[in-house]
Amino acid sequence: MGRVRSKDTKPEVRTRSAAHALGHRFRIHVADLPGKPDLANKARRWAIFVHGCFWHSHENCRLASKPRSNTGYWSDKLMRNQERDAIHVQALRDLGYQVLVVWECETRDDAKLREVLTAFLGGLSRPSENR
Ligand SMILES: [Zn+2]
Repeated sequence: MGRVRSKDTKPEVRTRSAAHALGHRFRIHVADLPGKPDLANKARRWAIFVHGCFWHSHENCRLASKPRSNTGYWSDKLMRNQERDAIHVQALRDLGYQVLVVWECETRDDAKLREVLTAFLGGLSRPSENR
């Protein structure tokens, strides 16, 4: 198992409170969905991943600067993360989910975070299949 560093990171906690404050309900670390989304609502079919900028190679982000030593090891490792992320997002979309990635750097700015979440959650269509 190793360390549980990935659980309840600060960016995750901030994303959860922002989503709550906007009136949304969800479960966290949803283990039976692809990629174990950090936040998800199965009834409304949305899932959110909160990604660390370094570990998930956020493009053009200063938090994601590449390590300067052992570059072969790191680029392999980070590339595998990216591939896995893409597979998880696709798998969720195949299940009919709308998927949002919230980046660590976005969670550092309350206004930005609210804007990103509102754009995503506010724009979802109602689950018409649940008649
Ligand atoms: Zn970033």
